[in-house]
Amino acid sequence: MVRTIFPLDHQHRDSPRSLGGLLGAKGADLAEMTSVLSLPVPPGFTLSTRSCRQTLAAGKLSSQLREELEASLQGLSVRCQATLGGPDPLLLSVRAGAALPMPGAMETVLNIGLNDKTTQALAEATGDWRFASDSYRRLIQMYGHLVLGVPMEAFEQCLARARADSGVLKDGELTSDALGFVVQSFLEIVEGEGSAPFPQDPRQQLEGSILAAFQRWNDPISHAYRSRERIHHDLGTAVTVQRMVFGNRDSRSGSGLACSHDPRTGAAGLFVQFVTGGQGEDVTAGNAQVRSLAELEAELPDAMAALGRSVNLLEAEYRDMMSVEFTVERGEFWLLQAQVADRSGVAAVRAAVEGTRRPTNPLSVHEAVLRVSGDHLDQILHPQFEQSQAEVLAAGLGASPGAAVGRVYFSADDALDAYDEGEDVILVKDETSPEDVPGMSIAEGILTTKGGLASHAAVVARGWGKPAVCGASDIIVGDGFFKVGETRVNQGDLISIDGGAGTVFVGEIGTAQSEPNTDMTQILAWADEIREGKLEVRANADTADDALVAREFGAEGIGLCRTEHQFLGERLPLVQAMILATSEEEESAALSALAEVQQRDFLDLLQAMDGLPVTIRLLDPPLHEFLPKIEELSLAESSGTLSEREQALLSAAREWSESNPMLGTRGVRLGILRPGLFRMQAKAIMAAGLEHRSAGGHPRIEIMVPLIINRPELDLVRSWIEAEVATANELADEPLDVRIGSMVETPRAALCAEAIAPGADFFSFGTNDLTQMTLGFSRDDVESRIVGEYVDRSLLGANPFQTLDVLGVGALMRRASEAARAANPGIKLGICGEHGGDPASIGFFWECGLDYVSCSPYRVPIARLAAAQAVLGGLSQPDPR
Ligand code: PEP
Ligand code: MG
Repeated sequence: MVRTIFPLDHQHRDSPRSLGGLLGAKGADLAEMTSVLSLPVPPGFTLSTRSCRQTLAAGKLSSQLREELEASLQGLSVRCQATLGGPDPLLLSVRAGAALPMPGAMETVLNIGLNDKTTQALAEATGDWRFASDSYRRLIQMYGHLVLGVPMEAFEQCLARARADSGVLKDGELTSDALGFVVQSFLEIVEGEGSAPFPQDPRQQLEGSILAAFQRWNDPISHAYRSRERIHHDLGTAVTVQRMVFGNRDSRSGSGLACSHDPRTGAAGLFVQFVTGGQGEDVTAGNAQVRSLAELEAELPDAMAALGRSVNLLEAEYRDMMSVEFTVERGEFWLLQAQVADRSGVAAVRAAVEGTRRPTNPLSVHEAVLRVSGDHLDQILHPQFEQSQAEVLAAGLGASPGAAVGRVYFSADDALDAYDEGEDVILVKDETSPEDVPGMSIAEGILTTKGGLASHAAVVARGWGKPAVCGASDIIVGDGFFKVGETRVNQGDLISIDGGAGTVFVGEIGTAQSEPNTDMTQILAWADEIREGKLEVRANADTADDALVAREFGAEGIGLCRTEHQFLGERLPLVQAMILATSEEEESAALSALAEVQQRDFLDLLQAMDGLPVTIRLLDPPLHEFLPKIEELSLAESSGTLSEREQALLSAAREWSESNPMLGTRGVRLGILRPGLFRMQAKAIMAAGLEHRSAGGHPRIEIMVPLIINRPELDLVRSWIEAEVATANELADEPLDVRIGSMVETPRAALCAEAIAPGADFFSFGTNDLTQMTLGFSRDDVESRIVGEYVDRSLLGANPFQTLDVLGVGALMRRASEAARAANPGIKLGICGEHGGDPASIGFFWECGLDYVSCSPYRVPIARLAAAQAVLGGLSQPDPR
């Protein structure tokens, strides 16, 4: 019989921390804290993810699992000297926890074991009716909501009435009589609105809570979260059952969250949020206040000393910034959860850099580089508001940094509809819950009137690097509007929020790039040292402006200049003249006009990237992209209003039109049909190179041929380019050294790499087209319609246009790289598709033996970090499916 339940003090063969896949992250960390670190954790046991998968497949708890559960319960009873439903009742918590954190999607049922009888026993044993009734009403509420499907509002409304009747503002001020009344009302609510009455049998409560926790894994909200976070849908969750400890016991009790650093700024030192007299859900609902440590130390000295010791021990053990959830019961400290802390980007880089300088147990530079993620850098690179005189409308907590501007929507559904209409959205809610996740995921920013830094909105927004302001309590949300004093903001109105400062403004404020961050600069400098000579990072840049931005971000060259982007705007008539040419003279006149402007573009680019390699790709897209739309001109044709030139354009558009242009006359095929085009481009590049050099520059030119399928194509185009290079060099004092290479973006090119490689100085994998053609997924159509659905249904692990499909496209790349190196050992290999800026894909590119990745300028810092992490072996590879 394979065991599926493990006590927290079970002696595992491997370190419990490494068993997240089996015990869930929460269960694994609790086991580590109990059995390795001997920290004060309430005793209990964890039902493994295996038992979740079995239960979900069977639709119920199996008899074997129930037997194991019974045995585990007996062990716990002996340990705690209390039995479920007994006179000194054993009371339990049930918490779900998957291998990867899913904030908000994993809720908890506390105080299991209370019923009409045991509540009385608890009251008698503690001499505190108020405490017993408060615990019982919390159980009915959580069980009623999470297991029996009663809407939370039903309970909230009942509590609000009880507060109003008693003339108090907080639940904690309700008397034991009032709470006794609330308990009765809650039982009636469950009876009326739940799928079954509240069970008085504690075993039924326990089994019901476990089953519901497993089943929540499959609910649409958890599903949406996992899709967003690219977590496998078939992992399942673990569930931990523990003896209760009570933060609602008395005024020397409470529940809290603590972090070894301030998670917003990274400043070292305990950061504590605490709610006196509260239980776990009070904290996770965001009711905990940030408290000064000195104040808490005065109130609960022993507990705070134990908290400090525990957090230090955990930080030393995990070698990372840690956050813990804890309870204090009558002054005694208990740890309920520990995890590597969620933190803002600013906090991540600061804690990593400062960690290398601490006197004891410092982080190594490699560890520091591995402590920062691409998402953290993304947050720091987020735009911030420009200096503005705008008046602050409301202020709350700066929960997740960055500036966001958008139109106000009050529900996730309305936000999604507006987003589908192309609007930028700010989701405004009193507080968010997992149901809001789909709306949050598309919002530019999130604003809540309640909740703190640990609230659902704050945790989720920080994790996604989305600006969020939480707890802006001056804002009163009404039906379709919100008000602050006399100012009313209606649904659809524009607002701006600053998630760093926690401020809200009416209207739109301009944004600017964030200030340079010296900690980020340091991390990136270390990253560059680690990857130096191993994995280069270049940028995809088409203009000198892009190139300057890329260089500023640390690009070591241009890996792709798409020359078609230089053919638009005022250049368009020149291209059209070339297409419409009816004689060789006309064509060559049009080409020379184009050559002149292209030369200027290339010169600017070479200047901006002076001394660094610049890969210029010859024209790639089909020619009809440069012609007007047939439908537009056809309309005018039928009304007889076309000019002679328009008529010629229409004929050309019809002539060049194709049903599947992505697979038609584009790339090298177009160049072969219009040889003058590629020769003109090569000539302009050479002229720019020589001009740049004669002005003292150091041009490093690479010319790249797109959409190759075989060696003869490359040889032919190479011969044209070499002819232009030779002609230009004849007139030069010193010849320019030019590399000529090929994109590998058709599956055939990848499969025939050994034949093509000897004709190329470099290969650059065009993973956008290679993905399109390998999967047969049109880049233009499939992504929006099919990919989301496929990811949701676990038919794909991730969007293959974002994260490389390692099993398919990756196999082609791996094969092509090996074959190319074998056939041409000096060949340089790179990648310039969108995947070049995706950290998970970069891990694969390194493993595949590429020399460089090339990505958009703003992704360059993220690629620099990811490349170093790949070299250190610290990047997980994409999900192979
Ligand atoms: C590619 O196909 O990956 C590529 C970089 O080329 P483009 O996106 O311009 O087709
Ligand atoms: Mg391409």
